[in-house]
Formats: sequence, C-alpha cells, structure tokens
Amino acid sequence: MAGPSRYQRDLFGATVVSPALPSDYEPARPAHFQVADIYLAKGSIATPERRRFVESICRLYPEARVEERPDTPHNRIGLGERDALGLHQVGKQTLVFGELKTAVRFSKEEGNACPNYWHFSPYGFCPYGCKYCYLAGTQGVKLSPSVKIYVNLPEMLAEIDHVARRQERATAFYLGKLQDALALDPLTAYSTALVPFFAEHPWARLTLLTKSANVDRLLDLEHRGHTVLSWSVNPPEVSAIFEENVPSVDERLEAMRRVAERGYPVRAVMMPIIPIDGWQDIYTAFTERLIETVPIQRLTLGGICIYRGARQLMERKMGKGNAVSAHIDGRPRSNGDGRARYPGELRSAGYSAIIASARRIRPDLELALCLEEEALWESTGLLSSLGHCNCVL
Ligand code: SF4
Repeated sequence: MAGPSRYQRDLFGATVVSPALPSDYEPARPAHFQVADIYLAKGSIATPERRRFVESICRLYPEARVEERPDTPHNRIGLGERDALGLHQVGKQTLVFGELKTAVRFSKEEGNACPNYWHFSPYGFCPYGCKYCYLAGTQGVKLSPSVKIYVNLPEMLAEIDHVARRQERATAFYLGKLQDALALDPLTAYSTALVPFFAEHPWARLTLLTKSANVDRLLDLEHRGHTVLSWSVNPPEVSAIFEENVPSVDERLEAMRRVAERGYPVRAVMMPIIPIDGWQDIYTAFTERLIETVPIQRLTLGGICIYRGARQLMERKMGKGNAVSAHIDGRPRSNGDGRARYPGELRSAGYSAIIASARRIRPDLELALCLEEEALWESTGLLSSLGHCNCVL
C-alpha cells in the first residue's frame, strides 16, 4: 500500500522531507499493557496535531487518571514511589507522552566488539515484564521507569534524513535499543510513518527489535526491503521462567512468519541465553525449530549483560539462586564495559552448540554475537563476521 510521499521538492529542486504524525487510523489497546495513569508532559500537546494524536489514544483508557503537566519534562514526572521495585512496577502501568529532543543518537559502545551505530527513540522503555531486563538498570530508566511515547516523530525523521544524506551510503537507524520497537504500535501506528519513510529514502534503512506480535499494520506497507524486522526470542522453557507479561514465543514466531511472507528481511536475536537445567539440548532444539519455521536472514546470539541495578531488580523478583545470577562470573574484571556476564568458557560453549545446530540446517545463515568481546567471536569461529550483527546492516 503506497501512501503519500514524505518527500517534496523545494524552490531549488532539492528534496525536503515532510513527515507527519499518523492521523488517519484507529488506535487500539495493545495486549500486555495495563494503563493506570497517563501524563501529558512538556511538549506533548504543544500543537493541534500533537493534541489530536494524544487525545485519540487517551480516549482508549477512560478508566485511567489523566494529568496534564505542560511544564514538566517526560523524565521528571514523579511516580510517588521510593522503593526501586515499587517504582518499577508503577512505571510499567504509567503512560507518559512527551518530547525527546535528543532522540537520534550515535551509540558509544566501549569494552566490547560491537560496532557503533545510529539509533533513535520514538518510545521509551516498554510495558513487558522480562525479569532479566537490562534496560531497567540503565540510569534513565531507573529514575523514570514509565512507558513513554515521544510525539516528535516527524522531527526525528527529518533529522534521520539529514544524517543519512550526510553519510551518502546505506545507513541503518536502529529502533529497539532503549525500548521495544512495536509493543505500542497499536496505539501510535508509528510503523505506518516509519516503514514508508525508510522505503522511499535513498540512504536511510530501519532495523528494529521487538518481542511484540503487533505486525498487522506492517503487512500491507510498501517497504522495498529497507526495513529489517528482528525478534528477540528464547526457548519457551526459558521464556516461561524469565519473561512475564510478554507475547508467547509461538505468537512471536507466527508474527515473524507473517512478515517474512510479505518480503520483509527478518532476523532473530537469542539473548540472553540462560543456562537453565538441560539448556544445551533446549537451545539446540529451539534453534532448529526457529530456523525451520521462519526464513531468517541473520541470527545473533548473546548472553546476559547486566548492570548492577537491573540485577538487583531481577534478584528481588526471583531470588539470588535464579539461573542467571547463579552463573554470573564473580571474578573481578579490570576492563570491559561494566556489565556482568557469564564466564567466557560458558558463553563460548553455549554459542558453539547453537551455532553448530544452526549450521546443520542452514549452512548459509548469517551468525553474529551481541555485546561480546573479540575473543568470543574468535573462539566461536565467527571472527570474519565481526561487525555484521543485529543493529546494523
Ligand atoms: S522487551 Fe526488552 S525492554 Fe521490554 S521488558 Fe523485555 S527486555 Fe526489557
């Protein structure tokens, strides 16, 4: 379905981008998001277009308390909880509309072998309840763990256009670093602005990561292969223990299959791999099922990479004996990126078993590691693929 072009010519014949907030759609309540409070923070209703957009979503939740806070930035809305776990739980039921002026950024990875990459944030955080969630421990989310919709999407796309034209080569813009990319799409229909924008762009490409099954809006969009959709997956046995209030693994696989049928490039990220009892057999069997169900282009593997705050939250929910904490390397590290991981030998053994089972079925499958050290790329035989992982092209 081709929509109106996001590009127009100015007086001198140069292309200018003119995206807008989605308006011609019916918002719908997404699964797995119970909304108790809604805040309209600074900038969220500053124009008639933004007000219309926000109000149409608020109408879906007549039972929620709605408060206008036009002078308060989205990350300064107090949620009335001091305890970290209580704050986290209230945040998951709080929807904040706001404006994020620094939404398009270049990553600053250090201490691991990841390439740096462009990413952007039309959402903040996520309504799902993964107990290992690394985002929950990042500085911004720890202090402000509400679910956020940033309404300056048109301005973000104009900036992406600007950045991509400066690069003058195909450049990925990643959505999923600081949020789930599709969990709130039933509310916003942002996909209907994003996919056509990237489809038409000469250089900008979209890569996104989700655990959502909300793909209905994507199916009929013209994408020209410029949007790469990736799913975060784990075997159902692992998901049952560590992923609460998320779409089931079966729902995710079905969503992947549906968009693959429509020609989207589809990828999978298996992360964090969690060494529960019998994990090697569980992971190799699931890898085979994944590859046989969906024609994925690339599979990226990763272990746990967790900051202290996120680990504390996880242990308050599950106890210190959970399978992640029980396997974290307790040895002091003098370098690296400050995230806790399993010991290198355990990571290497897990990745190697999964890689072998993937290669048995799909020798041509692209394989990569996420947030790993170069030594692990080498020990798993993937060194020649370094830099070709999920967030980039
Ligand atoms: S989907 Fe991602 S961001 Fe959301 S709770 Fe799970 S790990 Fe965290």
